[in-house]
Amino acid sequence: MNQLLWILLSLLLSSTALAQAYDIVVEGGRVIDPETSLDAIRNVGIQADRIAAISEFPLDGKLVINAKGKVVSPGFIDLHAHGQALGDMRMQVMQGVTTVLELESGVLPIGQWYSLLEQQQTPINYGAASAWTFARIAAFTNTDPSPTPAYFQDAQKLDEWRFDIASPEQFDRILELVEQGLDEGGLGIGINSGYAPGYGQKEYFALANLAAERGVATYTHTRYISNTEPRSSFEAIKELIGNSAITGAHMHLCHVNSGSLRDIHAILDMIEEAQAHGIKVTVEAYPYGAGNGVVGAAIFTTPDDWRERIDSDAHSFQLGADRLTEDEFADLQANAPGTFVTWHYLDETVPEDLALIDASVTHPAVSIASDSVFWAQFTDDGGVTFYTGDEWPLPDDVFSHPRSAGTFAKVLRSYVRERGLMSLSEAIRKMSLMPAQTLEDFVPQMRSKGRIQVGMDADIVVFDPTTVADQSTYENANQPATGVQTVLVNGEFVVRKSKLILDANAGRPIRREVR
Ligand SMILES: [Zn+2]
Repeated sequence: MNQLLWILLSLLLSSTALAQAYDIVVEGGRVIDPETSLDAIRNVGIQADRIAAISEFPLDGKLVINAKGKVVSPGFIDLHAHGQALGDMRMQVMQGVTTVLELESGVLPIGQWYSLLEQQQTPINYGAASAWTFARIAAFTNTDPSPTPAYFQDAQKLDEWRFDIASPEQFDRILELVEQGLDEGGLGIGINSGYAPGYGQKEYFALANLAAERGVATYTHTRYISNTEPRSSFEAIKELIGNSAITGAHMHLCHVNSGSLRDIHAILDMIEEAQAHGIKVTVEAYPYGAGNGVVGAAIFTTPDDWRERIDSDAHSFQLGADRLTEDEFADLQANAPGTFVTWHYLDETVPEDLALIDASVTHPAVSIASDSVFWAQFTDDGGVTFYTGDEWPLPDDVFSHPRSAGTFAKVLRSYVRERGLMSLSEAIRKMSLMPAQTLEDFVPQMRSKGRIQVGMDADIVVFDPTTVADQSTYENANQPATGVQTVLVNGEFVVRKSKLILDANAGRPIRREVR
């Protein structure tokens, strides 16, 4: 090579080096990437919506975030997020969540739902599965589904879609509607079967077959939650595993904690055994001893011995800040069965109960998902409505389950820092990489999420490991998590200097290809 060429080449190289000022540099933080086992002080360079450099050496940035003493992690991915309004997303992002997916219930019609979300301010990424319950309601009521929680809530007054075997015509329409949701880009099939436990074996089997055929996962809230046989949690989860084993479908089990009640060890052992045999079952849990669902749900009304089966009475249920009396409970079940209530089935202050929750949360095969529920308010006439406004902080009178604002921060505070039940890297794996891996075979967008690596999406959370904490409680869930310094979604600030960016609209749809 002649000298002139060398000079030209070195000029070219130095000019590109000069031009290489990243849009944002996250400087000097402890970068944790569970996939590559990176856990070291690094500088992260972000160009547009991607991670462009990870270096031990200083990087030049148009904007530099000082992350010294902080942890830099992939943004958390919540596979189980019912709340998809602006306030729901804001409570999530304050604890470092950058993607919220409505998979367990799902929704229909999927195309309409994505259009609605596109018109809404979405600070974080979002997506949904095709909803079997919505299809079942539609088939049994001869209606067209509508992509709102109200469609599901209003149907709680009706019994047929919940307790009857589908006729051949209904069966066909259910499958058709679910498949239409997949054609419109749904992220798999949401099978919220606890709310319609009367389905036939053949129907669930057909859903698994459809998922296998289309190469997507199903997400099941199992039909029975009880430690009494028959109709036990064990039986329902075995049904799920059986369908996966026979059809080859990837079947995801939602909230193994609340789905197992006190039988968590036997159920986790069964799942381990299934996975060891190569059966494609994945699992999630949330770190609380209370669930949440509609008060008229099948599990709270049937069979006749339901109270003994789930060891609960009216006082186990909470609406707003208060536990219910028998009269209030009966009144809600009769007149407003679609009302979401919090259901206390384990007491986190009792060591044996806490150990059961811990068993599911810490199990290496279990990812963390919040099951976040809508922020709600009482209306003047004593009813309950969902808050969909844009006030921040959320209005004083809203309520929800504390998991809607605290799940991910609680894992970092309680399980990592205070009780040392898992390493920071393991917690981050369960909250970012594992959920991305759960979907990435059939949702290509997820292959570039859940990782801090060059070329990956700049969905990043920077938090203080010594202070990060959930603040939401059963008495007052309306308290955002603290200790998160920065959240970037697709390279844009959504949280900066621990403050929410009010006009952030960085979220993008997570969606499969539309047919
Ligand atoms: Zn559920």
